[in-house]
Amino acid sequence: MQINTKYNLGDIVYPIWKSEINEKLTCCACAGTGKVILLDNNVYKCPNCNGHVVYNVAGFRWEPRIECIMVDNVFVSTSSELDENYIMYQSISSEYYYENECFSDRKSAQLECDKRNKEQNAD
Ligand SMILES: [Zn+2]
Repeated sequence: MQINTKYNLGDIVYPIWKSEINEKLTCCACAGTGKVILLDNNVYKCPNCNGHVVYNVAGFRWEPRIECIMVDNVFVSTSSELDENYIMYQSISSEYYYENECFSDRKSAQLECDKRNKEQNAD
């Protein structure tokens, strides 16, 4: 059996990932000020948001990772039940990326993100 991978050990690749889109929520108890005035007229930290801005995950979007990685390990899984080989690359810092999420340059990574985000928004 011969399995060809898109990249080899030591190659520099530009991974992409699905990042969260966070929306800032306005606290209903303090209107986003983080403080409330109680019956004694003293100002207290809002018990609802604990004085912090609250975020809600509103969705996801594909983005190129800021850092490129050097391929340190290649993992291949193959099975008669899979339509194609399952290939992952591991960076020196032990992050894993699927082969279809790795690109040879930043421009290609950005183009793929734009394509995936457009397809995702079309659903
Ligand atoms: Zn609050």
